[in-house]
Order: sequence, then C-alpha cells, then structure tokens
Amino acid sequence: MAAALALAAPAGAADWTAGAPSSGDPFFPQMGNGGYDVSHYSLDLDYDPATEVLDGSAAITLVPTQDLDQFNLDLRDWFGVSRVAVGIHPAAYFQEDGQELVVTPLPKLHAGRAYTVHVDYAGVPETVVDPDESFEGWVKNADGAFVVNEPQGAPGWFPVNDDPNDKATYDFAITVPAGNVALGNGRLLSSVTDAGKTTWRWHEDSPMASYLTTATNGDFDLTTDTGPNGLPIYNAIDSKGDSAATDGFSAAQKTTAAQRFAAEPQIISVLSELWGPYPFSSAGAVIDRGHVGYALESQTKPMYDGVPGQSTVVHELAHQWFGDSVTLSVWRDIWLAEGFARFSEWMYNERTGGQTAQQQFNAATNYGVPDTDARWQSPPALIPEAKNLFSPSFVPYNRGAMTLQALREKIGDTAFFPMMRAWFAENRNGNATTEDFIALAERESGQQLDAFFDVWLYTAGKPTSW
Ligand SMILES: [Zn+2]
Repeated sequence: MAAALALAAPAGAADWTAGAPSSGDPFFPQMGNGGYDVSHYSLDLDYDPATEVLDGSAAITLVPTQDLDQFNLDLRDWFGVSRVAVGIHPAAYFQEDGQELVVTPLPKLHAGRAYTVHVDYAGVPETVVDPDESFEGWVKNADGAFVVNEPQGAPGWFPVNDDPNDKATYDFAITVPAGNVALGNGRLLSSVTDAGKTTWRWHEDSPMASYLTTATNGDFDLTTDTGPNGLPIYNAIDSKGDSAATDGFSAAQKTTAAQRFAAEPQIISVLSELWGPYPFSSAGAVIDRGHVGYALESQTKPMYDGVPGQSTVVHELAHQWFGDSVTLSVWRDIWLAEGFARFSEWMYNERTGGQTAQQQFNAATNYGVPDTDARWQSPPALIPEAKNLFSPSFVPYNRGAMTLQALREKIGDTAFFPMMRAWFAENRNGNATTEDFIALAERESGQQLDAFFDVWLYTAGKPTSW
C-alpha cells in the first residue's frame, strides 16, 4: 500500500534505539550500560571535607555501538545533576532506580562517531554498601576521603559506564583545601594552589576499569621515587596526627610504611621477571585510614587501609598484572584476579628465599576444616552470589592459587611460566574469562586439561587427584 511505502525508511538510514540500562552481569544487574564504548573520562572534582560536598564535572568521550536515541550512565542518586550536554547540544535527562542517569540526546547519536558527553553534578557522597556489607566508593574520613570502588563504588562519585569491560583512559583535576593532597591514578601532571585551594592533576594513559579508579584525598605526605627503568613511584601516607584517634599513624607505623615503600622497586622487578614487564607508566602506594578493612589494587596506586604487611604489598602489586591489566569480564571470575595475586605472593616468596610455592600450597590445603566446609564446597569458578566474591572462606584466593600451583605441577615449569606470560601478554589492557584461561593453558601445554580444571574450578569438595 502506498501509505506504508511512504513510511518505510530508506535503505541505510539510522535505526534509533535506546542503549541497554545494564551490561548484564548477573551479580550486579544495574552495573554498566549498553550501546556505547567510552574511550576517555576527564573528571573535574572539587571536594570540601568541611561541608562534605563534592562538586563534579565530567567530560566523557564515547563512541556509540548502535544508533542511539537514549543511553544511560551510572551515577548514584545522592548527586543532583544540573546539566547534561552532548558536545554543544544540551540533552534531556532524568535519574531513576538509585544509580541510572538516563540521557536523551538531541540530535541523536550515530553509531561509530565520537561524542563528548558533559555532566555537571553535585551532592554529599554516601558510602556504597556491598552485598557482603563492606564499604566502598567515596568513604569519608577525618581529613578527606578514601576512594575505592571494587566492585561497584565508582558511580558513588562520578558518572560512568560502570562495566569492567569498558576500559578508558582518565584525566583527573581534583581540587581540595590547600595543604591537602589528592591522589588520582597515573602520573602527576601538576598541583596548583590558588585562593586557598589546590588542584591536583593526574593522568592515567593505560586503559582502566572503573572499579580501579581513585581520588583519595586528605592530609598526606607525598613522595616520588624511581623504580625499574625509570618508573615513577608515587607513595603517600596520611600525615595527620600520630595515632588512630586522629586518623593518623604513629612514628613506628610510619617507619614500617617507609620500609614497605622502599621494597616496591624490588617487588616490581621480581614480578616483572615472573610475568612480563610492569604494565603501567607509574606505580605507587597510598596508606590512609580508610575505615573499610581491606586494601585495594587501584590502578598504579594501591590503596592501603592502614600500614600493610609486605605480602599485602606484593599482592596488590601483582594485581597490576592480574586484575588491573588483565581484567575479569564477569564478576564471577574473580579468581582470575585474587587467585593469581595470591599465587604471585607464593612465587615472590619462592623467588626471594622463602618457602616454595609448593610448600605454601601444602599449607593452604591444610585448612584444618573438613571437606564439607564452605572452603571446599564452593569451587572458584562457581561463586554462588555477589556476597561471596570476597568471602571469608577465601575460595577465590587460596583455591585459586592452589589451582595455579597444581597446574604448574601438572604441566611442568617449562610450559607453565611461558603460559602465564602469554596470558598476560595476550590479554594486557583487556578482559578475559575462565574459559579463555583454560583454552590458553591447553594451547600452551599441548594437553587436554578439561578434567584438571573440572576438579579444581568447577567441582565441590577438596581435590584429591587431578
Ligand atoms: Zn586481591
């Protein structure tokens, strides 16, 4: 019929649809969005610890993967949004469901073209509480904030496609009261003080998952050291007061912290010999009173909620290879980060005159709990729920590391270490899955390993033969 023909779209015309409101991870249904890829975030943050107001402006460079008449960003609803624009064009928007910022661009967005989305927002950030009841996001303390995001804290302080698969480079301009230090990822570009405020500019030039970003700020002593091959290492420790009562550290704790900082170049060298060149253009450590009860491998600057033990420093630095550069694609595969970091602790000890990895494996298999205990009944690749990702049973950590040591024993060092280096080299700056690892292990070893991985990763109970 003629009327219908008149309505038919000409060949090759845009097919406008809305981007998905989620990236589809079963553990975090609101996390991430569909319809576009972000390449860069430029975050301009002004934080006043006295009022606790965070005033932010984000410029997000993205490329639609479909013709978009609507798309979502993730931003927690304790922020009010005062402006959204795409390029020079103001966009319509609304907030819903706790962390969805729904944007209707005009004109609509064409697949394959680059756009810059501007979001101005402000509010008093609250702490994000995880399914396991741990704290993350913009976690306020006596002199600023401890900023950590694994797995879902990033929308607690900036608008983001909070999907670990959508890595991007970052610029940070973080303004804090003069005298305070703000620590973004990557290299320090400048710190400029004007009218009682200091703006700290940092640049991270490697693709980064949003859960690895930071903007920790407060009263810090910041020092810059040099690591292997001229690598700049930024170390910061909270300098406020001298005790936990003032959210600071004692003289003895600061001495221990200095020893941890001094060990970083050697740890990076040992890990580089094991797994391949250090992945990023800077490194560092931030020691603060974060009140979260854990350390986190934020990219280039691990965040320590207190003065760490040396094995924790090794663990967080190992994550720069496994977790930060080679990142999980779905959260259930957390063992690809935690098991590899724990195994790196074992290998570091083995390579520096401590116990062998096999001795540490033997100790770890002697949990002293029966086979019916959760530590044996929850295989690493089948984490049941989001609340179990970092559970006290340490399944992704210890059993993940045991899986690697058992694999080493099975295929031999001459196949195992090149395989591990290939895993890093081939997935650097990217994302990977357990299935990818199994395929690579089989390729590199020339062995069929389904039965091995079935026992270690997918079957409840303590492995007894493999
Ligand atoms: Zn870890």
